[in-house]
Amino acid sequence: MVYDVTDIASSKRALERANEQLAKLSMTDRLTGLLNRGTWENLVDAEYERFRRYGQATSLVMFDIDHFKKVNDSYGHLAGDEVIKHTAAITKGNLRQSDTSGRYGGEEFGIILPETDAEGARIICERIRENIAQSVVETSVAPIQYTISMGIAQLTKAPENYMQWMQLADEALYAAKEGGRNQVMISGN
Ligand code: GH3
Ligand code: MG
Ligand code: MG
Repeated sequence: MVYDVTDIASSKRALERANEQLAKLSMTDRLTGLLNRGTWENLVDAEYERFRRYGQATSLVMFDIDHFKKVNDSYGHLAGDEVIKHTAAITKGNLRQSDTSGRYGGEEFGIILPETDAEGARIICERIRENIAQSVVETSVAPIQYTISMGIAQLTKAPENYMQWMQLADEALYAAKEGGRNQVMISGN
């Protein structure tokens, strides 16, 4: 009973924090139109608290453009920006209304997939990964082809906070990079 009430209270706090931020700040990243990092992280926290209460399947994805430094070095920063925008557009085009994507860093992105287990997440990620690998970005400098690497962590009881959940997805992303890039890895926890 005590745990129950605590869970509701912390879930409520996470949602309130998210709502406060929505009111205060612009929610989205200017370049991509995705949620900005702060807003997106608050939603990860809210989803984490929802899992603590209801235990539903939910997965987190972190992904990153491969060898992006080379894109900037070869074609310039503006062409690099076009690649980032293209990545966001493909991502949005492959998600459901209930999924939320954010620009986590320069060329790093995150996706929350509610009601989705790791295998379901893999299907969505493979779709995004393949879409990007097969497309050509027609920038004013040159046509650019590139790839992304992705890490998935379905939430279990193990993480003690949303940051640990993100850490697991990030470790899976790192494994995808280590494995040769242009691939999707699932966290084994
Ligand atoms: P890896 O495959 O290991 O991810 O290699 P990488 O070259 O992509 O690795 P890294 O993360 O070190 O490089 C990211 C680069 O992205 C460095 C930074 O200059 C560039 N960058 C960050 N934000 C932006 C941005 O908004 N626009 C552009 N054009 N470049 C950016
Ligand atoms: Mg990169
Ligand atoms: Mg990076």
